Amino acid sequence: MSTVYLIGAGPGDPGLLTIKAKQLIETCDVVVYDYLANAEFLKYARADAEIIYVGKKGGDHTLPQDQINRLIIDKARAGKSVARLKGGDPYVFGRGGEEAEELVAEGIAFEVVPGVTAGVAAPAYAGIPVTHRDHTTSVCFITGHEDPTKEESGHNWEVYAKSNSTLVFYMGVKNLPMIAGKLMAGGRSKDTPVALVRWGTRCNQESMVSTLENVAAEAERRKFAAPSIIIVGGVCSLAGKLNWFEKKPLLGKGVVVTRAREQASDLSDVLRQMGACVYEFPTITVEPLDDYDEVEQAILGLGAVDWLIFTSVNGVRHFWAQLTEIGLDTRALGGISVAAIGPATAVELRLRGVTPDFVPPKYVAEEVVAGLLERGIAGKNVLIPRAKVAREVLPEELARAGANVRILPVYETKLTQADSSEIVEALAQGKIQALTFTSSSTVENFFTLLKPETLRQYPDVKIACIGPVTAKTLARYGFTPHIQPEDYTIPGLAAALGMGL
Ligand code: SAH
Repeated sequence: MSTVYLIGAGPGDPGLLTIKAKQLIETCDVVVYDYLANAEFLKYARADAEIIYVGKKGGDHTLPQDQINRLIIDKARAGKSVARLKGGDPYVFGRGGEEAEELVAEGIAFEVVPGVTAGVAAPAYAGIPVTHRDHTTSVCFITGHEDPTKEESGHNWEVYAKSNSTLVFYMGVKNLPMIAGKLMAGGRSKDTPVALVRWGTRCNQESMVSTLENVAAEAERRKFAAPSIIIVGGVCSLAGKLNWFEKKPLLGKGVVVTRAREQASDLSDVLRQMGACVYEFPTITVEPLDDYDEVEQAILGLGAVDWLIFTSVNGVRHFWAQLTEIGLDTRALGGISVAAIGPATAVELRLRGVTPDFVPPKYVAEEVVAGLLERGIAGKNVLIPRAKVAREVLPEELARAGANVRILPVYETKLTQADSSEIVEALAQGKIQALTFTSSSTVENFFTLLKPETLRQYPDVKIACIGPVTAKTLARYGFTPHIQPEDYTIPGLAAALGMGL
């Protein structure tokens, strides 16, 4: 019989999932998760894995614990390996202990994968170390929401109050007035610093620091709701000095990435690193061609080519895929000069052992032409592997300058059938502060999926675009970009957003 893994999924920042947890999600037959376990991790699951959601915000829609246990046991009995994901750590107020006991009672093998618990991570992301030699010698994890059916409270408020322990309350926001009251009644000074961290480690994290005396009123005023961690103790006074996460330039800002899913991650990753809440809305997909005969012929004819010009990462990838397919490798490029239109394309070439002979200082077709002319491209045979449909400026200008140009389509971009309702809803809720466009086709396809009139209803939403060509396409729909980088690259675009939002 197979194993059930009780896995801590961490507090929300997707990077805080452990490597072991990721490996298990990748391999298990069944993945069971609930509200606080990040749904983003499901993308690691096998394509044929069974994915079961057992919880919902608010508690009332949650599958009762005994039914969750039953479900997990049934799956294990059926010979399946089960990844049971829980927010934070499974044994810290996650009822993981109860699930494990049940598994033991049923004779089912189980393992535990501890996770990063919110009670340590949320304070850390708010600038609060839960222990610090100047402030405390211990830390207590306390439930702020005791089982309401319990007859006698398990809390000893006097002990909490009199200790110098850092007190970390889970599920306590509703009971904050009671918690603060009991601690003061038990003898903790009313001036003791208290912090609240809501949605800790996520892009929408918020925190506040107050005192035992004022915290309840202030939390009420600032509408602090669940899920929040409450931290009581001197360590909270360090928040001002040690806060790092909330200083990120794009923290809490919703930014839409319209690039193809295959390419979105470079932009999404930098934006997330800068604190943004990224909405991936891929407007195009990058797809192989139906037929590669022409590419094959072109590769076999490389001997007559003087210059190869790559205009995108995808061009490099699909060209090399065919090279490999017909049993060749980078050596087939032997004496050919190679140009990359931008730094990302250059990196992709270097990965294949090719150091480009030319990378233009500015990343648009016109600049490439100027640079190549200097390198004597006139009269030479030039091959440009690229998308099936793309701008003609580069080939036309090169031809005008006397080069013998051949365009070689190696992939195509297609409009996705993405559903825009999530974006429309997020716009309506004021969650989106910027849209990013990295090519003309992302603009065109975006406005096929979402009407320009819809976007016009939100004049405060900033439009960021990578360069002047994309800006021109935006103008056709009646939009002027608010944000445009000096250099037309993805890092440049992200940096411009950091300054402009
Ligand atoms: N097993 C989880 C805790 C589950 S209890 C863990 O180890 O973190 C649920 C409570 O955890 C919430 O009510 C809230 O108090 C806290 N919590 C979970 N994730 C949180 C987050 N990202 N930010 C703040 N509090 C969080």
